[in-house]
Amino acid sequence: MSKLLIIGAGGVGKVVAHKCAQLRDVFSEILLASRTKSRCDEIAQEIFELQGIRIKTAALDADDPKNTEKLLAEYQPALVLNVALPYQDLAIMDACLAQRIPYLDTANYEPPDTAKFEYHWQWAYRERFEQAGIMALLGSGFDPGVTNVFCAYAQKKLFDEIETIDILDCNAGNHGHKFATNFNPEINIREITQPGRYWERHGEDGQGEPAGEAGEGRWKQIEPMSMRWDYDFPEVGVKAAYLLYHEEIESLCRNIKGVKSIRFWMTFGDSYLKHLEVLQNVGLTSIKPIEYQGQQIVPIQFLKALLPDPASLAKNYTGKTCIGCLISGTKDGKRRKVFIYNVCDHAACYQEVRSQAISYTTGVPAAVGAAMMVTGKWNRPGVHNIEELDPEPFLELLGKHGLPWQVQELPV
Ligand code: NDP
Repeated sequence: MSKLLIIGAGGVGKVVAHKCAQLRDVFSEILLASRTKSRCDEIAQEIFELQGIRIKTAALDADDPKNTEKLLAEYQPALVLNVALPYQDLAIMDACLAQRIPYLDTANYEPPDTAKFEYHWQWAYRERFEQAGIMALLGSGFDPGVTNVFCAYAQKKLFDEIETIDILDCNAGNHGHKFATNFNPEINIREITQPGRYWERHGEDGQGEPAGEAGEGRWKQIEPMSMRWDYDFPEVGVKAAYLLYHEEIESLCRNIKGVKSIRFWMTFGDSYLKHLEVLQNVGLTSIKPIEYQGQQIVPIQFLKALLPDPASLAKNYTGKTCIGCLISGTKDGKRRKVFIYNVCDHAACYQEVRSQAISYTTGVPAAVGAAMMVTGKWNRPGVHNIEELDPEPFLELLGKHGLPWQVQELPV
């Protein structure tokens, strides 16, 4: 039985708090801390109403490691589960090192002033975590997270050799708004307005940027949203998916032996893309500060203030998400192709924890990853991406706690 500190009380933090509270035999006590304490208190009250369980709350500005260090020294949790924003990752890791407390997150560090999603800042902590004898688990959400674990499972059980991985993320839900993002708008829009990038081991045409820390392959770059694939998703049907850069490619190309190509695709409707194009064209998605009436404002932060809070979409959300990995390769000398996936229903998530499926599919794996760590099933000092750990016990718990998954055999 272990004490848990959750940092961040947004859409994902709320699901994590609910799910960890449900895991009564794993977490003896939960403290939910975030910049705005009233949001923690609202979640605590809701958990009490739905589950009859009391969790503690605290105000914390995690941008300064000293604040987190002080809270850790007082509370002494068995684990810090970070679901604040990617900007806080390094500061929270510093505090964990100082107090020798294990760490888990769902998104890699991003510097606030450049939209860059790379692991090297966090991988640079490897030796310090190893020497401190504590584990940091990176990317325990859905993508990154479950998708990485699906790849590790495919490597362990389904294939002798994996050749290609296509991660396909489909949200076929409807929240009734003309334009809204399903998780933090600033982080989401920074991610999808980047040039598309994918990874290939053999850049046969000699094109592309050498992958550096991301193994021996090459990065191929394309214009944002310029590659489309109409994919037939189980339970959801055909949806238009667009190639994006996503952070899990960087770790999977190192950890899935022999893989030759990894790409990431996300579905968007025409209306979403039209709104995004207009917002970009008028400069509202920019992260460069501008002067407005004697004040510096960052356009994307102003836009965030105008858009619906992702957590508020939950109540009237209908439809399903389908996220999975399409993997091809060989098994026992024969070619094989599978789609390993989960389908999640927005309304069912609202019924259970008053959240929509994007927050739910991120929060459940974070809670399950935390359970794996505090029960000692995963205990490897250092900084690790989730596919480096044994996938089977994680997937077993994941299915039990709300995200069942399937393997679909496909013709080769
Ligand atoms: P929200 O914006 O809804 O919530 C973020 C929370 O972090 C808010 O409660 C916010 O506080 C708090 N916060 C921000 N800055 C600080 C700070 N300096 N100190 C303490 N708390 C702070 O985001 P989401 O819940 O949608 O996303 C949370 C994380 O999950 C993000 O890192 C996101 O990238 C990641 N994510 C990962 C996914 C995956 O599949 N791997 C998918 C979706 C999200 P306040 O209330 O004051 O603003």
